[in-house]
Amino acid sequence: MRRISIVSVFLLIQILAQGQNTFTRVEPAFWWVGFSNPEVEVLFYHKDLNLSAYQPRVQSETVKLKRVTRTENPRYVFLTLQLTAATQPGVVPIVFTDGKKSITYSYQFKERSSDKNRIQGFSAADVLYLIMPDRFANGDVKNDSLPGFYQGVHRDQPFGRHGGDLKGISDHLDYIKDLGVTGIWLNPILENNQKRESYHGYAITDLYQVDQRFGSNEDYVALINKGHSMGIKMIQDMVINHIGNEHWLMKDLPEKDWVHQFPTFTRSNYRSEAVSDPYRSTQDLTLMTDGWFDNTMPDVNQNNPLFATYLIQNAIWWIEYAGIDGIRMDTYPYPDKDFMARWAKAILTEYPQFNIVGEVLMNAKPVISYWQQGAFNHDGYQSNLPSVIDFPLTNAINAALNEKGSWDTGLSKLYMTLSHDFIYPNANGNVTFVDNHDMSRYYHNVGRDMNKFKMGLTFLLTTRGIPQLYYGTELLMDGDYSIHPTVRRDVPGGWRDDKENNFIRAGRTKDQNEAYDFMKKLLDWRKSKPVIHSGKLMHFIPHDNVYVYFRYSENGETVMVVLNGNDKPMELKTDRFREVIRGKSSAKDVINDAIINNLSSLQIPANASLVLELK
Ligand code: CA
Repeated sequence: MRRISIVSVFLLIQILAQGQNTFTRVEPAFWWVGFSNPEVEVLFYHKDLNLSAYQPRVQSETVKLKRVTRTENPRYVFLTLQLTAATQPGVVPIVFTDGKKSITYSYQFKERSSDKNRIQGFSAADVLYLIMPDRFANGDVKNDSLPGFYQGVHRDQPFGRHGGDLKGISDHLDYIKDLGVTGIWLNPILENNQKRESYHGYAITDLYQVDQRFGSNEDYVALINKGHSMGIKMIQDMVINHIGNEHWLMKDLPEKDWVHQFPTFTRSNYRSEAVSDPYRSTQDLTLMTDGWFDNTMPDVNQNNPLFATYLIQNAIWWIEYAGIDGIRMDTYPYPDKDFMARWAKAILTEYPQFNIVGEVLMNAKPVISYWQQGAFNHDGYQSNLPSVIDFPLTNAINAALNEKGSWDTGLSKLYMTLSHDFIYPNANGNVTFVDNHDMSRYYHNVGRDMNKFKMGLTFLLTTRGIPQLYYGTELLMDGDYSIHPTVRRDVPGGWRDDKENNFIRAGRTKDQNEAYDFMKKLLDWRKSKPVIHSGKLMHFIPHDNVYVYFRYSENGETVMVVLNGNDKPMELKTDRFREVIRGKSSAKDVINDAIINNLSSLQIPANASLVLELK
């Protein structure tokens, strides 16, 4: 017995060595046993061989070769493998023969993780922290400039790569945890071997590979595991609408229609409303979804059945491989919408606890709500998408903090915007934020005013929704989007030769520490407050630019929030709020821990906010 097993191990090593050296690409390179969908479609590509002439054979009793699909490009063949109830984790030899020639690939089916807490999803119980990986911290200078990559590090260039990486993030997880957030959303970390502006990550050139200038696939898994052990989730930013023009597929497409082709370069009209517009022309819709996002970003055709399956499997592969907790999907209305509904459903069927948020970059609530699962849509469209990014609320916050109060300006903007929430199937599932990588920084928007800064964040962290912060907000980083890269600056202290270090208290200014401490106080408090995560919301019409709302739950927990948008202190009579205050006689001020023993009248300082736990 012993001798036989040594022989079979030897054979296996031989097959593995042979297999891995044979094909130019096999994707997905491995899969798992135990998904509810029993099929996997595997791409085989050999840059020098006419693969279409080869006959594939799967040497297994329990894995069936359901379908062989040959493409117009003979260097590709796609095999659809079907697993059965009897399929066990292990290696399945797939033999390709053409006359006397043969190639064997040992396809591995892995065992799925048995850790039920590994993939958690995310919700309004979380606060997400958005990081641009190239700009946060450079943990490994050895990966800054690598052979085979067009771009190396040029830190003096605003649109160049600066060298930030996964190790830089891993090294500062304690900083992130200390701030009090519970999840990280990284701008895309997959390979972007583009000739220009590859730092932002949205022109992917390999959908199965972390950009090596950020680290390896294994480094990504290690970062996620470390984060999970510290109570920090990982949201992966994905792009399905387009790929980078330097993507390896673009050098030798399996079929011309894997990307939308035009006689001359044709740009999207970027009119997201054209997808849901009841009066839209076919011309406008086609340009919106099939036009290229940029001349360096070819538009993916999700109606090609092979590529459609490839993309769905790619998302499931990353979830199972890396153990991510959620996906943020870029440019949500730009791909084929029926494909996107299938994509989201396939993921949530395998991972019911998972969450996906889609970016619909519009200031129009009806257009955004169209994309959230459960919307009452005129065309009957159901997206299967649980969460949308709440751009209208961000715009309302910025207006509210910068306008004088009136019937419909100033803090009335917050009231009016939330009063429209009935249009969302699940407003508490919206991702809310004061800024991100695609707009001026929040501190810039509030005119570097600390009081306004605190008021907007108080609102964000206590109203409905899943708050998202942008790295550096807690450090009062400033930046004007009209001078684009200034909103994507490096964190001082993230680079070895930086003169200041904002990651430590002593390296921050007094104002920076005030901002950091304020945010930490609210974030730490919010973590253990189900009434904020899932409690009800009741708000009152603003009077004299003072906005008052409550988060409350059946068990009697009540939090009162007061925002005073005036340059003078205000006295607030609370009789108007008796339907929700009833029975409560005192309160704890969450920010300064003071106890308030008389709730009938409250003194609110100028441009200040109060968060009160009612007792
Ligand atoms: Ca680096």
